[in-house]
Amino acid sequence: MSKILIKNGTVFDGKNVRKADVYIKDGKIDAVASKIRRSGVNVIDAEGKVVLPGFICAHHHLYSTMARGMGIPGVPAKNFQEVLDKLWWPLDRALDKDDIYLSALYALGECIRWGTTTIIDHHESQSYQKGSLDTLMKACEKAGIRTALTLGSSDRYGKGLEGVEENERFLKKLKKEKHPLIRCMVGLHAAFTVNDKTLKASADLAKKYNCGLHVHVAEAKSDEDASVKKYKMRVLERLNKLGALGKKTILVHCVHVSGKEAALIKKSGSIVVHNPESNMNNAVGWADVLGLLKKGILVGLGSDGMSSNMLQQLRCAYLIARHANADPRVGFMEAPTMLLQNNAEIASRIFGGSFGTIAKGKVADIAIMDYLPPTPLNSGNFLGHLIFGLVNSQVDTTIASGRILMQNKKILAFDEKKLSEAISKRAPKFWKKFNKEAASKKSWKV
Ligand SMILES: [Zn+2]
Repeated sequence: MSKILIKNGTVFDGKNVRKADVYIKDGKIDAVASKIRRSGVNVIDAEGKVVLPGFICAHHHLYSTMARGMGIPGVPAKNFQEVLDKLWWPLDRALDKDDIYLSALYALGECIRWGTTTIIDHHESQSYQKGSLDTLMKACEKAGIRTALTLGSSDRYGKGLEGVEENERFLKKLKKEKHPLIRCMVGLHAAFTVNDKTLKASADLAKKYNCGLHVHVAEAKSDEDASVKKYKMRVLERLNKLGALGKKTILVHCVHVSGKEAALIKKSGSIVVHNPESNMNNAVGWADVLGLLKKGILVGLGSDGMSSNMLQQLRCAYLIARHANADPRVGFMEAPTMLLQNNAEIASRIFGGSFGTIAKGKVADIAIMDYLPPTPLNSGNFLGHLIFGLVNSQVDTTIASGRILMQNKKILAFDEKKLSEAISKRAPKFWKKFNKEAASKKSWKV
C-alpha cells in the first residue's frame, strides 16, 4: 500500500480547521502536523483545497442507476405505492447480473467523484437474488469503496426466504474471508411486503451474525396503515415483537412513526437514517428527525439512491428542516451532525473501526475539495462554509483506506468514459425489459 503525503491543505479534522499536512501509511493516517517531511512518498499538493474526512452514505441503492433518463409508461404515479408499482418494482424485476454490475460500478464512480468513501447499500433484484451480493461486491472491490451490502428480502412475489438465504450465504462467505472493505447486513424491503416468517428468520439471522437489519420503515403512511390493519400493531411494534431492533439495525426513513414507536427506537438503540431528498421527491412527508435527535436517537443521513453526493443531502436536510417546521432557527447544527458525526458512528457500528476524523491511527478516508473561501475559514465558522460553499465545490482527490481512487479529478480505479459507454449502450435494452415488466402489471401479495 502506498505512502501518501498531502501537503499544504486546510484540514478539517472532524472538529477543527487548521493548515496542516497529512501523512498516510498502510491505509491509516500516520501523522497530521505542519511541514511533515517524508521521502519516497506520493505527494499530493492540497494548496487552495480543503481536506476532509471521506463522506459516508448511510442508505444507498446502487441498483437504481439506469432509471436515469428512463421513461415510465402510463399516467404518472399519484402516491408512493404507485411509484413502487410503476417504477421500482418492475425495475428490480428486470435487473440481471450484468445490469446490476454496471449500475453499481457507475454509482460507485459517482461516490468517488463526490468524495463518498463508505456506503451502506440496500439491494433488490427479484429475478436475480442468488449471487447478487457477489456481483455487487465485485463492483465495490473494483471501485475501492467500503460497502455494507444487503439484499432486501420481500414476500411480494413469494421469494422472501430466498432473499434470507442469499443474505445468509453471503454472511457466511464474508465471515470466512474476513474482507477488509465489505460487510453484510440482513436486509428487508419493508414491513408491508414481508410476512412474519421472513421477518423472524431475518431477525434471527442478524442476531446470529451480530450484523443488524437494514429495512425501510414508514416511508409512506400506507406502511403503517397496512400494519395496523393486518397485525393490529404499528410497524415498529411488529419489528420489536419479532426481535428485529438493536444497535446495528438501520431503520430507513421513519417518516410516519408515532411517539410510542420513537420510544421503541430509543429503547432498542436502533439507528434511523433520514433521506430528505428522496422524501421530497416521493412527496411522502417530513421525517421529524429533529424530534428523534432530541430524544437521543442516532439519526444519520442517506441518499436513498438519489445521488452519491452527500453534501447535497446535507443541504436538503438543512433546508427541509427549516421549511417543514417554518422555523429558521433549526437545521444548521442538526444537518451537519447527522452527516459528519452520526454517519461516522453508524459506520463504526457496522464496519468496526473509527470514522469521520483525520487523526493519527484513524482510517485514511479522505476527500480533498477545491475551495478558495471568500471570507476567513476557521473552526468556528466551518459549518457555514460547508453548507453554503463547499456544497457547491468539486472534489479533486478521493482516498479510501489509503488507496487513491481519484486524483486531479481523474478516477483511477477504472476507465470512467468506457464505463459510461458500456452502460449507455446497455440501458436501452434494459429499458425494453423494464417496459415489458411494467406492462405485465404483475400482481403482488404477502
Ligand atoms: Zn431506500
